[in-house]
Amino acid sequence: MDSLKKKDPEIYKTILDEAKRENNNLELIASENFVSEEVLEAQGSILTNKYAEGYPGARWYNGCRNVDVVEEIAIARAKKLFGAEHVNVQPHAGTPANMVIYFAMLNPGDTVLAMDLACGGHLSHGNPHNFSGKFYKIISYGVSRKTEMLDYDEIASLAKQHRPRMIVAGASAYPRMIDFKKFRSIADSVGAYLFVDIAHIAGLVAAGLHQNPVPYAEFVTSTTHKTLRGPRGGFIMCKKEFAKKIDIEVFPGAQGGPLMHIIAAKAVCFKEALLPEFKTYQKQIVKNAKTFSEEMARLGYRITSGGTDTHLFLADLTNKNITGRDAAAVLDRAGITANKNLIPYDTRPPHIASGIRIGTPAVTTRGMKEAEMRQAARLVDQVLSDPENEKNLQLVRKGVDKLVRKFPLYKNLIRRLEKE
Ligand SMILES: *Cc1c(COP(=O)(O)O)cnc(C)c1O
Repeated sequence: MDSLKKKDPEIYKTILDEAKRENNNLELIASENFVSEEVLEAQGSILTNKYAEGYPGARWYNGCRNVDVVEEIAIARAKKLFGAEHVNVQPHAGTPANMVIYFAMLNPGDTVLAMDLACGGHLSHGNPHNFSGKFYKIISYGVSRKTEMLDYDEIASLAKQHRPRMIVAGASAYPRMIDFKKFRSIADSVGAYLFVDIAHIAGLVAAGLHQNPVPYAEFVTSTTHKTLRGPRGGFIMCKKEFAKKIDIEVFPGAQGGPLMHIIAAKAVCFKEALLPEFKTYQKQIVKNAKTFSEEMARLGYRITSGGTDTHLFLADLTNKNITGRDAAAVLDRAGITANKNLIPYDTRPPHIASGIRIGTPAVTTRGMKEAEMRQAARLVDQVLSDPENEKNLQLVRKGVDKLVRKFPLYKNLIRRLEKE
């Protein structure tokens, strides 16, 4: 970044400060990860210069021969990774990918059955301020009060009662496996489309550690930047019969020109996800989340649904005398980043919340394993047990420093930081 350093030192410095923050903190936000230098290089490339409205071989601009190759490679790799019949790699992020499915398949006012946000669903599954909540009649299913897991009988009976045109499965804060095959039979029982959003679990699905929805759902969307560890972006998979409809809805329906540099980085990410070591990485993410949640439970935290099968879990802080909001804020001051989260049937509003969501994709990328997860859990507990004691926070900050120093991130960038 020599040129940036000279010509725009303000932005250069902020990027270096962020690199330092990412390297020095314990990153437990379940939707974040650290991409490879190869993904960064593709994403930072001159492909950002090219307009390529349309699709490979059928563009509205000339000079697309190289970006055509890039997009074709990205599509072929995604198809191989998930076994999809058709892939569109152009959505700028997960929410626009979801918007395309709604806009392509529904009319305003249609009924959609989707997961309640308070039980782990995403904004684009019916939040009243989101397009999904504004344009469609959203009926929500939650989790069982008793098990805090999906109750497929209840979902089936809601489907029978409301006859949705589309059922949405997938979540942002659900720690258990989702049975897409069961969702398929519920959708079939009422003649609804099944749309599965694997934004969070795409890495686990790619590695074969979570049931793959692609054989069961007409539409599957995902992000590339969460467990999949690629650039910030989205993509869509669908059955062949809907290919044209979906492609038209992406462009010209919802977007203009695709971000070809991001699509190149998506292709790199898919290549990495096809390697055997990606499976080892995903397995370690799950082992780490299990170990972390078990240690938290041992320290007296109630883990919702009693544990996790995935990359994340929710700790209920109700008996700990601190809200999710305050917990996340004080953890950040000690160098630990996690986010507040509603727990199922939370009595607090979303901006306060009674829980925190903890995820292991980012720390696992750094190379941390079970022993480090136990240490991390103890550091989290040390903060939350005495959140107002400044000395205590300083001590934890030191503990975090010691822990993360053994697992350096972006070595070249950091080495340079240390020289400045
Ligand atoms: C993160 C997420 C998305 C999309 O997020 P963007 O920020 O728009 O990329 C969509 N669905 C679910 C379930 C998610 O968790």
